[in-house]
Amino acid sequence: MKSRLISLLCFASATISSLAAARPNIVFIFTDDHCEQALSAYDPSRMTTPNMDRLAREGMLFNRCYVTNAICGPSRAVILTGKHSHLNGFMTNGNSFNGDQQTFPKLLQKVGYQTAVLGKWHLKTTPQGFDHFQILPGQGAYYNPAMRVMGKDGREVPTKVTGYTSDIITDLTLDWLKEKRDDSKPFMVMCQHKAPHRNWQPGPDYLTWLDDKTIPEPDTLYDDYKGRTSAASEQTMEIKRHLSANDLKLNKPRGLNPEQLEKWNAAYGPKNEAFEKAKATMSEKEIIQWKYQRYVKDYLRCVKSVDDGIGRILDYLDESGLAKNTIVIYSSDQGWYLGEHGWYDKRWMYEESLRTPLLVRWPGAVKAGSRNEDIVSNLDFAETFLDVAGVKVPSDMQGRSIVPLLKSEAPKDWRKSFYYHYYEFPGAHSVARHYGVTNGHHKLIHFYQKEEWELFDLKKDPNEMKSVHGDPNYAAVQKLMETELARLRKEFKVPEIDPSRPKRQKKPKAVKKK
Ligand code: CA
Repeated sequence: MKSRLISLLCFASATISSLAAARPNIVFIFTDDHCEQALSAYDPSRMTTPNMDRLAREGMLFNRCYVTNAICGPSRAVILTGKHSHLNGFMTNGNSFNGDQQTFPKLLQKVGYQTAVLGKWHLKTTPQGFDHFQILPGQGAYYNPAMRVMGKDGREVPTKVTGYTSDIITDLTLDWLKEKRDDSKPFMVMCQHKAPHRNWQPGPDYLTWLDDKTIPEPDTLYDDYKGRTSAASEQTMEIKRHLSANDLKLNKPRGLNPEQLEKWNAAYGPKNEAFEKAKATMSEKEIIQWKYQRYVKDYLRCVKSVDDGIGRILDYLDESGLAKNTIVIYSSDQGWYLGEHGWYDKRWMYEESLRTPLLVRWPGAVKAGSRNEDIVSNLDFAETFLDVAGVKVPSDMQGRSIVPLLKSEAPKDWRKSFYYHYYEFPGAHSVARHYGVTNGHHKLIHFYQKEEWELFDLKKDPNEMKSVHGDPNYAAVQKLMETELARLRKEFKVPEIDPSRPKRQKKPKAVKKK
């Protein structure tokens, strides 16, 4: 009896330790505003990203990863909670994240994972659910950023770091992996870059990279916004009209030290001088073309420094032997306009900002070089990380683990349609509030404060230039999409009345009666 008990105990402890050994580590590499158009595994026409491409080559590329609300803070809150913005409370960048609520890092900690977040946080409140953090305050600076570090008692300590943000965030991630974590535990680390967020300040190694190249213009660079609702023409995010001197690097940059500034001036000085001289004789179109080249090249330069950082992390995972049992995920908080519709920025439910890159490498589970066309989302990330770690997904999370898709075993009842909701109006870039539904073929958008609708046939009109809403030929499709939209709003418990209260949207004061 006694020996049987001992052998049972031995079996149990062996099972527990082998389970512990089997639990994969999670490396989540995340950028801010990185679109598929600037990632060569998706689109090789503008630049090459060899290290991101390596993840695609050794793992799975998702061709339809949609975000639920295409803006920074809200996307991050969705990822942490697995819930739509109206339920996690972070609907616009004017909100503050309630860190007391359920998040996936907290649930991973509970089952013995070590957790850390390094880089951009953008949720205002102190991170909870992490054994270590070192984050940028707010948007953070590209050069020599101030940072918020977790002190010994868990409270924040302010610090300042010299260097370029993408290099710093990579260094911090590697330092945590090599020196700071407990080797006996599985880990989950979030390496969250600032780049390539506006105002796209390139790192010191890439200030003149691409100078000798002309980046191709998108088909819709000179869009006139006809064929859609009034929303498309009322925004303030046009390359033609809204880029500032700061965005275009025509001003002296702030925050650089003398050495960095010297390099900067050596790179931009001659280019700016040439532009100032030529400007008077340039046509309106030539000015747009110049702005486009300046803007896109700076953006691509920022992406390049992130790609280098990814290479360093992948190299370390190889050298340390961690690669075999580590799932590496690359994604961004939403997509971006690289001149499509004449725009920079994000926010819209149109394809360029609705989509975000998603690459997953997981040796032994994901077939190398595979590609997935199912509709997945940042709403699924929390559920996926929990599933990878063997944690039961809480029933109040609204996404679904993509682990079966990673194993090329897509469930028959995987989602065929997707709900989107953007709230930040009035706000930066004046994009009207809207919600909508897409199934990858058709897309119905409701600008609800305007009571205007758009319907797109993405197969016939992939650039979304002409709404077919109200077109009798699309009456049946429109009806189907309206029904699907109502079904999803009910399923996700979206309140009838928009629950967001951006700071800038105070009710007008009642006029006092005389
Ligand atoms: Ca962003």
